[in-house]
Amino acid sequence: MKKAIFLDRDGVINVDSGYVYKIDDFEFFPDVFSTLKYFQKQNFLIFIATNQSGIARGYFTHEDFDKLNRYILEEFRKEGIVISKIYFCPHSPDENCECRKPKPKMLLDAMSEFDINMKKSCMIGDKESDMEAGHNAGIKNLILINKKSPKSVAKYNVNSLSDTIKIIF
Ligand SMILES: [Mg+2]
Ligand SMILES: [Zn+2]
Repeated sequence: MKKAIFLDRDGVINVDSGYVYKIDDFEFFPDVFSTLKYFQKQNFLIFIATNQSGIARGYFTHEDFDKLNRYILEEFRKEGIVISKIYFCPHSPDENCECRKPKPKMLLDAMSEFDINMKKSCMIGDKESDMEAGHNAGIKNLILINKKSPKSVAKYNVNSLSDTIKIIF
């Protein structure tokens, strides 16, 4: 079985400026590449699990999302970083779908598709719904990049993605 790092996208990999879908508006956090390289060296598979209700809301299309994903994956590839898969929920909250975080489906799908040991895996997000999704998927190492959320189910609160290196080894 393999171990994995599950990453939320907006607010973790890139600046969350709200329903980002254009390449020009997509701003990687500067510490993302070095941090993900570190995870990869520690033999973690890397996944992105992202709620994208902007699709259901009609702010952008599935095709826009795919186009941005191709750009993101290519930027990572140039740095030698492999993202095993991007899981996403295109629904709005009122659709009450099975995939939108805090539900664990995206993470559980990765678990079965890639034979992941959740006990050795980590969920990193910037919202409580990310932590709850991880918790609901049986992940113990829940890391919240948001120091302002004291009553989180998160095991750790940190300031930035690179701070997680001190925790994950
Ligand atoms: Mg987020
Ligand atoms: Zn969904």
